[in-house]
Amino acid sequence: MVGVPAAEGQRFRLPAWIPGSYLIREFARHFVHVRAESAGQPLPIVKEAKDTWRAAPATAPVTVIAEVYAYDVSVRTAYLDASRAYFNGACVFLRPDGYEQVACSVEIAPPAGAEFVNWRVATTLPSDGAPAHGFGRYRAADYDDLIDHPVEIGDFALAAFGAGGVRHEIAVSGHPHADLERLARDFTRLCQWHIDLFGGTPQSRAPFDRYLFQITAAGEAHGGLEHRSSTSLLCRRDELPMRGHEGINDRYLNLLGLASHEYFHGWNIKRIKPEAFTPYDLARENYTRQLWAFEGITSYYDDLALVRCGLIGEARYLELLGRTITSVLRTPGRHRQSVAESSFDAWIKFYRPDENSPNAVISYYAKGALVALALDLTLRSTRATSLDAVMRELWTRHGQTGVGVGEHDIAGLVTELAGRDMHCFFERYVYGTDDPPLDALLGAFGIDWHLRATSGVDDSGGKAASMPPPQCWLGARISSDLRLQNVFAGGPAERAGLAPGDVLVAIDGIRASTSSVNALLADRAPGERVSVHAFRRDDLTRLDVELQSAPLDVCYLTPRANATDEANALRRAWLGP
Ligand SMILES: [Zn+2]
Repeated sequence: MVGVPAAEGQRFRLPAWIPGSYLIREFARHFVHVRAESAGQPLPIVKEAKDTWRAAPATAPVTVIAEVYAYDVSVRTAYLDASRAYFNGACVFLRPDGYEQVACSVEIAPPAGAEFVNWRVATTLPSDGAPAHGFGRYRAADYDDLIDHPVEIGDFALAAFGAGGVRHEIAVSGHPHADLERLARDFTRLCQWHIDLFGGTPQSRAPFDRYLFQITAAGEAHGGLEHRSSTSLLCRRDELPMRGHEGINDRYLNLLGLASHEYFHGWNIKRIKPEAFTPYDLARENYTRQLWAFEGITSYYDDLALVRCGLIGEARYLELLGRTITSVLRTPGRHRQSVAESSFDAWIKFYRPDENSPNAVISYYAKGALVALALDLTLRSTRATSLDAVMRELWTRHGQTGVGVGEHDIAGLVTELAGRDMHCFFERYVYGTDDPPLDALLGAFGIDWHLRATSGVDDSGGKAASMPPPQCWLGARISSDLRLQNVFAGGPAERAGLAPGDVLVAIDGIRASTSSVNALLADRAPGERVSVHAFRRDDLTRLDVELQSAPLDVCYLTPRANATDEANALRRAWLGP
């Protein structure tokens, strides 16, 4: 039947979303023009739905030619200009109905012109004749495989290293002066740690035949997308290490954390998958309440791997953890939405944030990471088992077999490994909105938990205050143009009637500026009232705001000086190599 178009006319569809990014993106909107041919003659082709085309009946093979607009600097779509080209198959490859399981062939042609002579190809699509990093023919086992190997084309820098017995490559676009030897050295250590975690022994073997990090440095962007044997990372230029630079600054640490995150997905979500994704339905939303596990556990391990593999020390890790805790404490939406609900509604809430999101939505990444931390510390504190053992068992039962993880499989597995019923943990912290008791759990590992108020706009937590925090707050996040970005439920601004989008004009008759708002609050006490002038659209209003105590929404963690031997032993077993 291969090569024979459907009798009623062959249908071609485009995915509505790309696995790993849970938003309906309707890639078909970038299809500018589509035409078809058969036996060398034009064949009529019409649209039947936003993502579906149907060619007229034909007896000979059908060729479809599509013109696609590609100018999105993102890891999810496609991009083309004179500096580079990049595409994900999900947004450019039409899928013929009935041919989902059929092997595919991809011919990548070089652009004409002397300025492109140095262009190469970086992808994990297997070669079907194309030379290494060259233009030519590539292949994929089926459509699912075809769209899981993004393709980078351009004059990128390339480095290679070995980990888990497998060749890994790093292709860097947009920064010819990055220190690739340094990247390769640090990535080797990081990747081998992940491989050993799932393999269960030192120097374990990787579960893929090869791996590629496609890194693009561009503007202010920072993000990544996981694939079965590669990942696309987008970062700021200054996140890449430069030749001659020693140590790991906060920007490079960001990139290492991102690479660690996407690499962990090579196991957790690309191979250990929720039932709802086996197989994916690319036409519509695929609902699961388990993104907290696939993204949250991955977020927990991304930074943890950095300390466990020895790239950073314990103090640095505790600072990163303090920042994650701070981001959750600053989100009152955690009292309204559980991480299970947040997972389910990712398509309409987490991926489509608005001005009310902090009041209504919790990140299944950040809180999911804290649930994973609480679970790991709970299991380790009884010395019965650990989250590492849970992940290895998930790998054995689901990753290596391809059997999807059911809604309650993780709770059941944890109960089995812990030797006691752990369902209550999941009811409270995954399906319920309770905060995990991290203060007490970390205490048992010799780590002290401190809370304080936010000291300024750049305060992302994780450390003691660099300046004394104000006593009061307005209960709103204010942008540099004095617009209220978010107004927190129950806070002074909301109680007074201020709303997101309002622009502050004056406080107590004095013209507002970012610094005057902070200065004004610095010497006020909770309960005092201030007069606020603000514009809502083009209407000027005046409101009385009763100030409240600033919430203690910043966490930082410190090793306890006089921790017991038992606590120190637990901490070493958790954070040690
Ligand atoms: Zn992720």
